[in-house]
Amino acid sequence: MKAKSEITTWLDQNEPHFTEMADEIWANPEIRFQEFKASKLQADFMEEAGFEITWDIGGLNTAFIAEWRTGQAGPVIGFAGEYDALPGLSQKVQGAPAPIQAGGHGHGCGHNLLGTGALAAAVAVKQWLQETGTPGTVRYYGCPAEEGGSGKAYMARAGAFDDLDAAFNFHPGHANYASKGSCLGVQSMKFRFHGRTSHAGAAPHMGRSALDAVELMNVGVNFLREHVEDQVRIHYVITDGGGTFPNIVPDKAEVYYYVRAHLPAQVQEVVRRVRNIAQGAAMMTETQLEEIVEHGTNCVLNNHALADLQYEAMQEIGPIPFTAAEKAFAAEINANNAPGNSDFVARSLGLSANEAAESLLGDVYASLDEGKVHTASTDVGDLSWKAPVSMLHTACWPLNVAAHSWGVVASGGMSIGHKGMMYAAKVMARAALDLFDDPAQLQAVRAEFDAATSATPYIAPIPTDKEPPQFENPYR
Ligand SMILES: [Zn+2]
Repeated sequence: MKAKSEITTWLDQNEPHFTEMADEIWANPEIRFQEFKASKLQADFMEEAGFEITWDIGGLNTAFIAEWRTGQAGPVIGFAGEYDALPGLSQKVQGAPAPIQAGGHGHGCGHNLLGTGALAAAVAVKQWLQETGTPGTVRYYGCPAEEGGSGKAYMARAGAFDDLDAAFNFHPGHANYASKGSCLGVQSMKFRFHGRTSHAGAAPHMGRSALDAVELMNVGVNFLREHVEDQVRIHYVITDGGGTFPNIVPDKAEVYYYVRAHLPAQVQEVVRRVRNIAQGAAMMTETQLEEIVEHGTNCVLNNHALADLQYEAMQEIGPIPFTAAEKAFAAEINANNAPGNSDFVARSLGLSANEAAESLLGDVYASLDEGKVHTASTDVGDLSWKAPVSMLHTACWPLNVAAHSWGVVASGGMSIGHKGMMYAAKVMARAALDLFDDPAQLQAVRAEFDAATSATPYIAPIPTDKEPPQFENPYR
């Protein structure tokens, strides 16, 4: 392998290693902080491929860094992968909803592909550096707990991304484009109220209801919604309703909130107001308030120069050649979902009605989201404030399918997902080579990053004393 374009041929030749890995992670879905098998599988593979492995990044026992370096100074480029599944989304490779195990976990966000595609790109780049004698360091980051765990925020806090010159990350999706848009930051908190129990009939005046506090807090927050910026999202669930018998005044109750807004300071401002409301509810009910920060991530700063490099790579490689059988399978999945998502995807990405009518879109697009802010969140945000990154999206799902649903699991366990994953690996690897052998490209990426991050300060989304949840890892 000498020419940069040959890296795609190398990935084609080695594809079975990666599709097997993606399928094994798909078949053994593990949720946040418990990705024991997936992290071991990937770390063993990388060790075998000549990478040096460091575990326990950010205090997470399913997080690791695999590093390979030439020994001469050169750019340090990272590839960030994920491997966590979602609860309750077990699903067979079928065109209709059919769980493998009722209530079981499933890869409803395609992270079996996300992690393996990033790993494949890292291995391919290492191979190219080795064969061409190009100086540099390549890292694969095995990042756990993206789903509601903000694994990368813990890794960022530990300084794991600080010395990166640039990073790559892809997410399975509906279409092939590198992102220039952003998404929301999030902070999640539990509000636990402590009251005083009493007989609700005989001595109600002695009781102080924690459930009243939860209800009053929710009423207050629902009034707050009118007086926040457009992109703010606030969601809650009552995680402890306070009891089972109405004649016992509940002495404890808990409500769990997600607060989403765009920039870090905007998230903090809405959180401040929600906390004020919680304190008000505690005062009104004469209960005590306990606040527990659960997780948080910052918005993604997508680097436009990196997006352009990936677009050039996509143009060089061409579209994803989905077969008639794959399109038919996708059409079946689409038909078994309530209509509407294709139109939503088309509107949000600016696709035409003809494109939205396709079952699967393998075409190449220039960035489809410039100037847009997606209303979901990802811990890639915390990586993006530490090193330049542009999230690449590749077609791994049918169009009438939403993330976190059975259709994603079905298409992620077969050739549609495999093709989108290998495509992402090729695009990221090909673009990374430009950063290694063309200092001007890397300088442009860095200059944009420095300008973006110097204007707005990074605010760590999790408190300094918050430790990640610990589960015993049977392999470590
Ligand atoms: Zn995801």
